[in-house]
Amino acid sequence: MNQREVRVRFAPSPTGPLHIGGVRTALYNYLFAKKHGGKMILRIEDTDQTRFVEGAEDYIVKSLEWCGIEFDESVNKGGEFGPYRQSERKDTYKKYAEQLVADGWAYYAFDTAEDLDQLRKEYESDKKTFVYNGETRKTLHNSIALAAEEVERLKNEGHAFVIRFKTPEDEILMMNDIIRGEVKVNTSTLDDKILFKSDGMPTYHLANIVDDHMMNISHVIRGEEWLPSLPLHTMLYTAFGWEAPEFAHLPLLLKPDGPGKLSKRDGDRLGFPVFPMEWKDPKTGDISSGYRESGYFHDAFINMLAFLGWNPGTEQEIFSMEELIDTFSLERVGKSGSRFDPDKAKWFNHQYMQKKAVEEIAVEFDLVLKAKGIEISLDIVKRVVEMVRERANFVKDIWEQSAFFFEAPTEFDAKFVKKRWKENSPELLKGVREIITNIDDFSAAIIKPQLEVYVEQQGCGFGPIMNIFRLALVGAGKGPDLFEIAEIIGKEQVLSRIDYALENIKK
Ligand code: GLU
Repeated sequence: MNQREVRVRFAPSPTGPLHIGGVRTALYNYLFAKKHGGKMILRIEDTDQTRFVEGAEDYIVKSLEWCGIEFDESVNKGGEFGPYRQSERKDTYKKYAEQLVADGWAYYAFDTAEDLDQLRKEYESDKKTFVYNGETRKTLHNSIALAAEEVERLKNEGHAFVIRFKTPEDEILMMNDIIRGEVKVNTSTLDDKILFKSDGMPTYHLANIVDDHMMNISHVIRGEEWLPSLPLHTMLYTAFGWEAPEFAHLPLLLKPDGPGKLSKRDGDRLGFPVFPMEWKDPKTGDISSGYRESGYFHDAFINMLAFLGWNPGTEQEIFSMEELIDTFSLERVGKSGSRFDPDKAKWFNHQYMQKKAVEEIAVEFDLVLKAKGIEISLDIVKRVVEMVRERANFVKDIWEQSAFFFEAPTEFDAKFVKKRWKENSPELLKGVREIITNIDDFSAAIIKPQLEVYVEQQGCGFGPIMNIFRLALVGAGKGPDLFEIAEIIGKEQVLSRIDYALENIKK
């Protein structure tokens, strides 16, 4: 690594909600910055007015906040290199584009969209592809092909123009990527990209390079989809005579099945979110689900994302943010795409469900209970959580596993009844009722031995009696320790559930 102070940036365009691939890019930048005692910057790249989406910037900021990814400098926080929104830096870019023209690295191009469309069509009819490059530029409507006076005239008359990069011909560019190693490109395979548009705005390429330079960015860590831009970016640094940052292009996130990039459609098709938080499309009103609303813990979500492309080289899979910061390195990021696995995402949440402090889960589950109008002491909620959380991936699953603690069953699992409710079951259950009635100190530790004595007296074994007792309390053959359930719901409730069962269970 070079000796520059580590300064990295996450530079999203507010063109819609942030895909989880984008969150992963932000995460790796954050881990890298923290690990090296550097700075993490949020820059909003909003120079493409046509793709601007209302609410997207706010969504991006809030999502990253939920993830626990913090910025040292950002649109909201400010910083000495601001403003951090490119539309507010608009006046900066033009002079850099003009500087490149003056230095012979770029040129004015007056070709209209219709001219270029026409050319594309002509090339297509010859089964060729039109590319604006070293070959074609000599014959087109630009400051290379036209005489200087003609260019002046067109500009003075107010003809619209763009500024294009003059890609050198037939040069071998050698570039280095921290993840991919050496990348080699012949410049003749590249086109003359537009740097500055006729609407007075820079394109992504120009604004991105100028800002990375002005914001003193030391490392550019971004998705693999930007690798094709690396040659142009490298040439721009050379053209400006600026020191380039180091680059790391992260592997793509792949669909759970088949080839290709993970997309929103895969999420819809296979039923998992591809966005960190729920997103409501401002135009259509369509809602896309989010990890937060689906019940993922933010730290489990981050842990899962960290492993999509990186691994620590050990067996350990559960990492807190601090541990990730300690362990992370770009050298351990893989080159090949990383397949997204929705089951693994659930697995991570399940692990966090088990390892989190019981209070934390109980407080969240209490909200679920309150929403159902159930008010109960947090101590009981904690005991319930402790008993059932091993069967839950999400807080909302706890309800499915524990509803009988809070609501008496009104129906009985027909299959279980068929199998377990025998002719002598009512008699046996009445016996259980008798014993329960006589227990004053109502706790699992007392109920259990008393029922054991009863089982022994009946000589029928533990199973038949426990099955029908469970059926009365739970309504089915599932649930955790029966004596604990009895203790928690209390004597009165136990008796009333037995009475209800005796009256209502019919074969
Ligand atoms: N604005 C680009 C994006 O939306 C930034 C790419 C980069 O990091 O250079 O991803």
